[in-house]
Amino acid sequence: MRTLSVRTALAALPLVLAAVPSGAGDAERLVAAILGETPLADDLLSLTDVIGGRPTGSDANLASVEWGLARFEAAGVSARKEAFTMPARWLERSARARVHGSVRFSPQVAAMPYSAATPPGGLTAPLLDGGTGSGPDFGRLGARAQGAFVLVETAELVDLATLFREYGEAAAIERRAFAAGVAGVVYMASRPHNLLYRHNASLGPRNAHPMLIMEREAAQRALRLVRAGATLELTAELDLETGGPYESWNVVGEIVGAERPQEIVLIGAHLDSWDLGTGALDNGCNVALVIDVARQIQALGLRPRRTIRFALWNGEEHGLFGSWGYARTHAQELERHVVTATFDIGSGRISGFFTGGRAELVPAVERALEPVAGLGPFAHVHEPIVGTDNLDFMLEGVANLVASQEPANYGPNYHARSDTFDKVDLRQLRLNAAVAAALTWGLAQGEVTWRRQSRVEIERLVESTSLKDQMASFGFLEAWRKGTRGRKP
Ligand SMILES: [Zn+2]
Repeated sequence: MRTLSVRTALAALPLVLAAVPSGAGDAERLVAAILGETPLADDLLSLTDVIGGRPTGSDANLASVEWGLARFEAAGVSARKEAFTMPARWLERSARARVHGSVRFSPQVAAMPYSAATPPGGLTAPLLDGGTGSGPDFGRLGARAQGAFVLVETAELVDLATLFREYGEAAAIERRAFAAGVAGVVYMASRPHNLLYRHNASLGPRNAHPMLIMEREAAQRALRLVRAGATLELTAELDLETGGPYESWNVVGEIVGAERPQEIVLIGAHLDSWDLGTGALDNGCNVALVIDVARQIQALGLRPRRTIRFALWNGEEHGLFGSWGYARTHAQELERHVVTATFDIGSGRISGFFTGGRAELVPAVERALEPVAGLGPFAHVHEPIVGTDNLDFMLEGVANLVASQEPANYGPNYHARSDTFDKVDLRQLRLNAAVAAALTWGLAQGEVTWRRQSRVEIERLVESTSLKDQMASFGFLEAWRKGTRGRKP
């Protein structure tokens, strides 16, 4: 099915182009320009191959902010960097591990974001079979878990559903582990072939334990040995750069509206990435997409009715801090944000949009997508989604869309060493840019029927959908309930 629909979209490409006669409308001209020759791939190449992995707080991240400003400037689009506060510095300098006891080997490991560092020379503790980290598994370990590294077995990640299950289970596993008094948690990598990646520790900046991902094959070996009766210890050496709050920047480009400049349509993608790979699928490709949309609107000399903002978010991977910072900096303007759109699921075909539980957005979205109907069909998803930069707009009651994309190769390469330029489907990325351009232009031009939601309406959304559980598993529910994040009552 998936292959078929992509093929259908590709086959439709000449139809889209053929449908742009002279005298066509602005949206059609914009779509045609995006589907033509643009520096989309060059931008992605320079961001990923030259700057590389760019976690917030790193020198590469600072370079990517300047890069973003320079790309907008070269396109003739006015842009600025906007400061926000990151709550804590966390970067990995190096992560090493040795298994020893009756057998010795040195598995590759990665520190999980917000892992605690180990003392110089490393932390040595028994390496125990933590099963799948369930209640009965910790029951079986009993007091032995205290002061030990507990190795947790994982199912292989094959798609986005298993990725979300992995995230969903982590908080409970870590809660049990810390209650049992472990020295640290070691997850078996869920991707085969020694592939390492980073997932945030469930407690985020409040985590106080060493937390590791161990390459899958080595973790399986360790578990086989322990299950056959071997006594093993693990020495983990995590050299981290940690510290208190610091300033980071979003990059925000803007094309001022001709008729209703005070009304804002915003599209964005996050600029930061983890640093095992070079952040190509997550999320360099969509940064390049956002810049390309801005560049082509400007190049054609189009003036939208509403103001369009193009946001390159920072601090996303550490906990969606850049878009949250924007919501605070622009609190007085949120009432006038007509809609925001986020692109963050790699380069698989855009098959519709997540509407944040707001079906009333669909007619305007469908009207906007008419010039790219050949790239459809588009089906919209009303279940709210947590895990990218729409969150604080959703919690502020601002209409928010997230591109719903075919997963393609996103899951297996997610946050991993293998997330590099070669994984991006450049042809599909260009088609997605055309969809993004049509959406953005259409929403900046057309009439809208909705308004910002009240706290009561947002509460209802949180309580009546899976939003509550998703926010809990990502660690956002408390901040919403305490009123530190989201629209004030
Ligand atoms: Zn992302």
